[in-house]
Amino acid sequence: MADSWLIRDGMDRERMLDMDARIEPLRRKALLVLAVCLVLSGPWIGWWTLIPLTVAGVFFTFARRQTEGVSKPENVLFAGWAASEVMIAASVALTGGVDSPAMAWFAIPIVTLSARFSVRGVTIGVATTVLMMVGVAFAVDTSAVLSDPPSLFAPIALVISAAILSTALMQSDREHRTEAVIDPLTGLLNRHALANRTEELTQRSAITSEPIGVIVADIDHFKVINDEHGHQVGDAVLKDLAYLLRKELRAFDLAYRIGGEEFLLLLPGADFDETLAFAHRLHRSVAAGRRGGLNVTMSFGVSCSSHGEVFDYDHVFEAADAALYAAKNSGRNRVCHFIPGSVGTSREDDDSRIAV
Ligand code: GH3
Ligand code: MG
Ligand code: MG
Repeated sequence: MADSWLIRDGMDRERMLDMDARIEPLRRKALLVLAVCLVLSGPWIGWWTLIPLTVAGVFFTFARRQTEGVSKPENVLFAGWAASEVMIAASVALTGGVDSPAMAWFAIPIVTLSARFSVRGVTIGVATTVLMMVGVAFAVDTSAVLSDPPSLFAPIALVISAAILSTALMQSDREHRTEAVIDPLTGLLNRHALANRTEELTQRSAITSEPIGVIVADIDHFKVINDEHGHQVGDAVLKDLAYLLRKELRAFDLAYRIGGEEFLLLLPGADFDETLAFAHRLHRSVAAGRRGGLNVTMSFGVSCSSHGEVFDYDHVFEAADAALYAAKNSGRNRVCHFIPGSVGTSREDDDSRIAV
């Protein structure tokens, strides 16, 4: 799945990119504060210290650009982050090692770790930083460290406590934000999350020219299920189907609950044939098992933006929704697709696209 050392899943990845975009202007301000400090210190320590600071700023900007279109942007962001700690380590090495006033600066990038990565990612970041601190302190002047170990303990304690406190704050923020974008019954993203995401996908498609598949899925005769078996069984059906959708998705696909028993799937990078094949697979999987203890079917509407075309969500959604409508009207329990100029019912053995 989407699992990596730095984040847990696709949802975390979304959050990371969102937070990184929010941090960016503040990071510039923090760099500016450091630049002022270095300029003021120039007469005593020299002006060269501005060089590693500039390099760190360039690294971050470069890393952010590289996140576009890669499947694991967290690795790129983490590399950018690590580069800033390496620059601080270089500055510490050149300004006297453990006694350098820049030792405390190791804590600055730490504060941004928990905004983007999981606890595991934060732990890796803190461990790397502490190793760098110990390494640079001993490499520059072992006797200075041995004669005054607290001068190393204090900045390390600062780094660790900054990580602990910022992680606690971030977890609280995460819980609040999760409530706003996650549907509590199914654990899927809600409409609010969709609005944020489509804009970003549009911008990204303008750069990458990749197609984006859209599938709208709706449970058949769900009202009857509720009427005959009760609301609780209906809820169990919804939960089971949502779980199935999530399980079948690739790491960077996204599933939303956009109505009572209606779901929307976004498949970045999937062309029309891939999106259609995926909808067929889902259709088969839904029918293959019991959901909430019942046999349930779903209807699917499929559409896709083309290669080289900027993603127009409203347009593609409208097409997928029209296809879903066609699926319902032609008897339910099937996959229909709509590509500009034609609409069709598609069975796996008969993939005809009937123009209307
Ligand atoms: P169709 O095949 O045309 O889609 O028919 P349908 O019965 O599935 O569609 P309709 O829109 O008539 O009914 C949807 C039902 O979904 C009505 C509503 O009570 C039920 N519903 C909506 N949200 C929930 C929910 O959170 N839990 C449960 N148990 N039922 C819900
Ligand atoms: Mg329905
Ligand atoms: Mg419906």
